[in-house]
Amino acid sequence: MAKKKTARSARRAASTRTSRSKRGGESGAPRKRTATSAKKKRAATGASTNGKPARAARRPRALRLRESQAARKARAGRILAKLRELYPDADCALRHASAYELLVATILSAQCTDERVNMVTPNLFRMYPDAKALAAASQEDLEAAIRSTGFYRNKAKNLLGMARKVCDEFGGEIPDSMDQLLTLPGVARKTANCVLGTWFGKNVGIVVDTHVGRLAQRLGLLRTAKDDKDAVKIERDLMELFPEKDWTFLAHALIQHGRRVCAARKPKCSECVLAEDCPSAE
Ligand code: SF4
Repeated sequence: MAKKKTARSARRAASTRTSRSKRGGESGAPRKRTATSAKKKRAATGASTNGKPARAARRPRALRLRESQAARKARAGRILAKLRELYPDADCALRHASAYELLVATILSAQCTDERVNMVTPNLFRMYPDAKALAAASQEDLEAAIRSTGFYRNKAKNLLGMARKVCDEFGGEIPDSMDQLLTLPGVARKTANCVLGTWFGKNVGIVVDTHVGRLAQRLGLLRTAKDDKDAVKIERDLMELFPEKDWTFLAHALIQHGRRVCAARKPKCSECVLAEDCPSAE
């Protein structure tokens, strides 16, 4: 009798354990969804805490493709052809009428929109129409003239240094070689590439700004650059893929496409002509 009772209570205990574990926690109370499982569910559905699609899910992830350099080059060729069709007149959005004006505008465009720069430069070029006039400017007056472009103290210092060096060492003319341009204060490869390609028609490199970096990564065109901020490697990766004669056009076209279609936050993949060749298309 005692044995029977023991077996019955063992069966009862086992069935209680099973039903508790089905319901949830050890206590038998329904188990709360943990932060981790909630996070996993959101990641799977693309929902955020407020019910909208999570930001990360809305942005296409830039994929690292396992593809040969030859296949990547072929894809790059198709992308270039489509960009040519879409933006046949792609050009620099900074208004300028000389190498001097383009150089000044490009220096001002750091951390500033082209629209804002275009609002500032007409007055600036009236005040300082050439490098000689700019070299004679006072830091204070220059700062006041470019203030709305941001980082105005540093930009004014660079503009003065650039203009004085151009007058002292290059006879007042903006030099047309990469090596010489890089000796000027405030001029790095991006600015030099812009002036050389846009004004002098020399394809020495590729302008890598925030749009070019982002699109190059999303389009899976990077071989050595680890992210869209590594401008030096991005430029080198792109130069390997595209013919030299197209370097200036490519940068202008990618910038336009980045502004109109492949925006940082909400790229319009459904209306993007590059989607077929884009590993990040959604
Ligand atoms: S499909 Fe077009 S818009 Fe979408 S990520 Fe690729 S390039 Fe950008």
